[in-house]
Amino acid sequence: MGLKLPDGIRTPAYVLDVARLRVNLAAAARIKAETGCRILLATKAFAMPAAFPLMREVLDGTTASGEFEARLGREDFGKEVHVYAPAYTEEEVRRLLGFAGHIYFNSPAQIRRYLPLVRSKPGVKIGIRINPGFSMATLGGSLYDPCAPFSRFGATRDTLDEAPWDEIEVLHAHALCEATHEGSVGLIEHVGREFAGYVRRVKAVNFGGGHFINKAGYDVDGLIAAIKRFQAAFGAAVILEPGAGLVVDAGYLVASVLDIHRNDKDIAILDASASCHMPDVLEVPYTPPVLGAAAPGVHAHNYILGGKTCMTGDVIGEYSFPQPLRVGDQVVFGDLMQYSFVKNNTFNGAPLPDLAVLDEDGSYRVVRRFGYEDFRGRLG
Ligand SMILES: *Cc1c(COP(=O)(O)O)cnc(C)c1O
Repeated sequence: MGLKLPDGIRTPAYVLDVARLRVNLAAAARIKAETGCRILLATKAFAMPAAFPLMREVLDGTTASGEFEARLGREDFGKEVHVYAPAYTEEEVRRLLGFAGHIYFNSPAQIRRYLPLVRSKPGVKIGIRINPGFSMATLGGSLYDPCAPFSRFGATRDTLDEAPWDEIEVLHAHALCEATHEGSVGLIEHVGREFAGYVRRVKAVNFGGGHFINKAGYDVDGLIAAIKRFQAAFGAAVILEPGAGLVVDAGYLVASVLDIHRNDKDIAILDASASCHMPDVLEVPYTPPVLGAAAPGVHAHNYILGGKTCMTGDVIGEYSFPQPLRVGDQVVFGDLMQYSFVKNNTFNGAPLPDLAVLDEDGSYRVVRRFGYEDFRGRLG
């Protein structure tokens, strides 16, 4: 396990492991150093301002999924702010001009609609998101494949000639999700092969996120080589904007056992919830690792782990433990930084977990604690 948390911490709590984050950032630093590419944090996946000073040392900025994240990037991260959304209102674009240096549009029509407005702010760069028709997302099937049939993401090839290419600086192709290097390299080569004429018209190509650069088995050198080949062929700058790949395995959700219920099987009821605190467990779906536990049947004591909401499906999974679980025991879910607290909700009035940081010297710091007012405040 190797994880040392101080005794008596309040649960539930998301805990960022700074030492692990630093290791992840080193991979990003190496990719940047060897290729000269820029790497942005996708704040959609992970937005913890307490971690931004460390991330800012390595990364070139942030990429946002809309106005509020763009503002967060501007105010809390600094450096470059990029933004993409499938559509914008005029008011959003007007405000985004104050936050973002790069605005990516989903279609030639969106660019045409907002071109005069964007041009009113000198220096703001325009990007176009294309649908590269490259399906290699490894997670969740079509739910997480930006190039799935009828996807609303990116201009399809047949519309690309309608775009005002003289106004466009960046071609954007986000098509991956938790991809190995095969996905990353495949996408880069695919865009170079299939969209060469358009790549030659822009200054930079943004290959989106989904590059799982810190997952065991990902061949970072393979990615580096592919970026270099692409740059040599086209002379275009390369941008990557991973979210999950920067924080994978860099934090936990710590929960406590509130009760052991029995219904043919032993069911441990936790103060953390799949529905409220790990929605991807139900959406993807997937079963997060629990430190010290294994799949059912491996160890002697099997438990279903469930939340304390009144939603029947609020079940995280079934695990086996070497010792029986008792009321008050801690259960630590691993790999729970990306797409976790950013998706929290207060369904059932479930309290939001603490946001905490485990520093490299072993010290534990709660950066935000929530209460009744966070629940009440969203109800009007
Ligand atoms: C979600 C998203 C990302 C980040 O994806 P990860 O899978 O977290 O790396 C980057 N760019 C765009 C456009 C996205 O929608």
